[in-house]
Amino acid sequence: MSKLHVIGGGLAGSEAAWQAAESGAAVILHEMRPVAGTAAHQTDALAELVCSNSFRSDDAANNAVGLLHEEMRRADSLIMRTADAHKLPAGGALAVDRHGFSAAVTRALEQHPHITIVREEITALPAADWGSVIIASGPLTSAPLGQAIAQATGAEHLAFFDAIAPIVHRESINFDIAWFQSRYDKEGPGGGVADYINLPMDEAQYKAFVTALLEGEKADFKEWEKSTPYFEACLPIEVMAARGLETLRFGPMKPVGLQDPRTQARPHAVVQLRQDNALGTLWNMVGFQTKLRHGEQARVFRMIPGLENAQFARLGGLHRNTFINSPRLLDSQLRLKSQPHLRFAGQMTGVEGYVESAAIGLLAGRFAAAEIAGGAEYPPPPTTALGALLSHITGGAVASLFQPMNVNFGLFPPLPGGGKNRGKDRKQLLSARALTDLDGWVAAGTRQSAAE
Ligand SMILES: Cc1cc2nc3c(=O)[nH]c(=O)nc-3n(C[C@H](O)[C@H](O)[C@H](O)COP(=O)(O)OP(=O)(O)OC[C@H]3O[C@@H](n4cnc5c(N)ncnc54)[C@H](O)[C@@H]3O)c2cc1C
Repeated sequence: MSKLHVIGGGLAGSEAAWQAAESGAAVILHEMRPVAGTAAHQTDALAELVCSNSFRSDDAANNAVGLLHEEMRRADSLIMRTADAHKLPAGGALAVDRHGFSAAVTRALEQHPHITIVREEITALPAADWGSVIIASGPLTSAPLGQAIAQATGAEHLAFFDAIAPIVHRESINFDIAWFQSRYDKEGPGGGVADYINLPMDEAQYKAFVTALLEGEKADFKEWEKSTPYFEACLPIEVMAARGLETLRFGPMKPVGLQDPRTQARPHAVVQLRQDNALGTLWNMVGFQTKLRHGEQARVFRMIPGLENAQFARLGGLHRNTFINSPRLLDSQLRLKSQPHLRFAGQMTGVEGYVESAAIGLLAGRFAAAEIAGGAEYPPPPTTALGALLSHITGGAVASLFQPMNVNFGLFPPLPGGGKNRGKDRKQLLSARALTDLDGWVAAGTRQSAAE
């Protein structure tokens, strides 16, 4: 049987190698540390946690990342099993002893009879004669490999500051204030003339908002982040605000071409939200990339009329990252459409976070093993957290707006009956549906088909 090559032994690569090996595939895991380092990793251990030691909420009934934990446990995840074994007290969150955790992942992979670990940097994209490959080299992919990926995917460069704007759950927007309209009622590519959600401000509200932005506490750049370029076109909103009171009113908050249906007048300033996913459940705050601290973002952005009770699926930020435009480039099995022997996994695919990265590794490992064994491949249903995340990055997200994404309930297909169930009830129903569907997938899924 041909071998599976996994490039990068981080959160995604470790999980992918484990899943594929447990499915019977022979795996070669290529990890460049300690031969070459990254700006953030400190050790040569596999699955090193580069920053926080938290896997976030472990509440499977009410929180999407908690649900993802539970689904991964049921799918025999090495990362989750090891995290559980090295858990520290952290309230409702799953925090781990980082050294114990990564040492145990390293040991499990080293001792697996189907896995060989090679400590080397891969500097070019493997040719088709390597057979099946998973690229899981992460947000700090080494420069030569990053350049090779950029060339193959047509991107000018992959490492840059992400300009991440907050994303709001549509159901938390107050439509007594908000209205749908495109600027100048201009027809969009889909034929609609009301593609944006608009939130109006009068002069006093605008001045108070600009003051709050300027006074809000900002996150600092880390030393190594300072050397990465960032672009005038994606300046943080608070940097624009500091250039003068009117700068935002002539930039992302300009009111021209818009009329508030309640007053029949043009507001003093307008915040616009643009649809972010095919389901229409998530809306992106246009031009609102920011380095305000997360708590400050929620406080300041809830000053915007219509967002008083906003729930954020993702808060904004600017940080260095490496990721590809997965909705455009990958098929539903995480294969590069132009070179299907190459799969991608982890943060490179445009998911955000330790758990999400490992989750995509889990899927890539299973898909690759099933393919090598000549079996059929079944993606998890989109009603599960694993499936919702996969669907988002391989087609559900709007490709031209694609930015890294955490798992959240806005990615799930709505429950039958639409808006009847809200808040906590809705989350619990979505979670219960997800776990039932996940159990069905695990029972009939790729691991089984690989063995057939
Ligand atoms: C500075 C920073 C802080 C972050 N903090 C958090 C946080 O606190 N919480 C959170 O949930 N997420 C955080 N993230 C986001 C993300 O979840 C993590 O980066 C996560 O580790 C991504 O998993 P991964 O497997 O895709 O990449 P990684 O875990 O980074 O694994 C990639 C592996 O590939 C190796 N590699 C790179 N290039 C090559 C090559 N050419 N050949 C061979 N091996 C190679 C690397 O050495 C590394 O071991 C952070 C990201 C960064 C950059």
